[in-house]
Amino acid sequence: MSVQSEKEQIKFPELPLITEDLLSKAQASAACQTAEYTLAERKELLDKIKKLLKQQDAVLVAHYYTSDDLQQLAEESGGYVADSLEMARFGHDHPASTLIVAGVRFMGETAKILNPEKRVLMPDIEATCSLDLECPADLFTDFCDAHPEYTSVVYANTSAAVKARADWVVTSGIALPIIKHLAERNEKVLWAPDRHLGSYVQRETGVDMLIWPGSCVIHEQFKADGIRNLKKEYPKAQVLVHPESPAEVVDLADVVGSTTGLIKASLNPEVNEFIVATEPGIFYKMKQASPGKIFLEAPSGGLGGTCESCLRCPWMAMNGLRNLAEVLETGANEITIEEDIRVKALVPIQRMLDFAREQQIVVKDKGNA
Ligand code: SF4
Repeated sequence: MSVQSEKEQIKFPELPLITEDLLSKAQASAACQTAEYTLAERKELLDKIKKLLKQQDAVLVAHYYTSDDLQQLAEESGGYVADSLEMARFGHDHPASTLIVAGVRFMGETAKILNPEKRVLMPDIEATCSLDLECPADLFTDFCDAHPEYTSVVYANTSAAVKARADWVVTSGIALPIIKHLAERNEKVLWAPDRHLGSYVQRETGVDMLIWPGSCVIHEQFKADGIRNLKKEYPKAQVLVHPESPAEVVDLADVVGSTTGLIKASLNPEVNEFIVATEPGIFYKMKQASPGKIFLEAPSGGLGGTCESCLRCPWMAMNGLRNLAEVLETGANEITIEEDIRVKALVPIQRMLDFAREQQIVVKDKGNA
């Protein structure tokens, strides 16, 4: 039997469904946070949070996909806006004893894995990610056990328990060099959980890979036809695409990159118009760095986001000023990880960081989801 047909015989487990109910629940929680405040309410909340951050010896680290308010507050209060790994690393270097992670749960967990001595709180601990949900630790462990000849490589968007079972953790920025490195050692790769990023890496490297069939509810929605049409209206626009998007969208990209990679691409002084295929929270940083430029959302199928037209990740949108203030007051929503899981999950993360250092790859500049 050929290698290809042997692979075709391999059946992946049935993944948990990302149901409309699940999305509606997240959208409802997000709606509470995104409900309009008056200017006076907003100022009152911001003043209160800044005071509480000082009182609690806390620092706010926010992901690029959170609201403009949270990103601005993180910057104004001495915190940081970044991808998940840089959020954790900033938290590690910062002297504060409490990290407030505005993002989704795997980001809070990564912060805790790298900073066990610190208290890690999240505005909403139920904020999750479709990639994390579609890769439960028990299914992943069973699948790895059934295919021990493969080296397991998981994307950052996974739970601590999945990372604890993996050989490597990668961000989207460092995935290609790590997979090439494994190929040089003749290793076959079991990749999880994002199938689009996995296929992109496989196409670029030609490595023998088994690819878990998970996906991001947001990036999966981008449509190649819509981008082609928009490109007719804006022929000079560059197309910036996150590799969690489908292959036909990636094929249209002028630049394929992680969040940090796309922000860097938007700084190109020769280009003034961009069609951007990633979560639109990223526009805050792009517009801040290049105020005169035009940034257009890539057209999508309109499912999965906080509303049909906006493509905001419903779980990212569960972070807001209101629940942030509440968490600082109550100390609720603390991330805890069993120590044996944390120690095991640290191993593949550290392997990635050591590889980046040895290869002089600046993970900070590449970033991840
Ligand atoms: S945008 Fe996609 S990958 Fe990012 S947190 Fe939301 S569901 Fe997960």
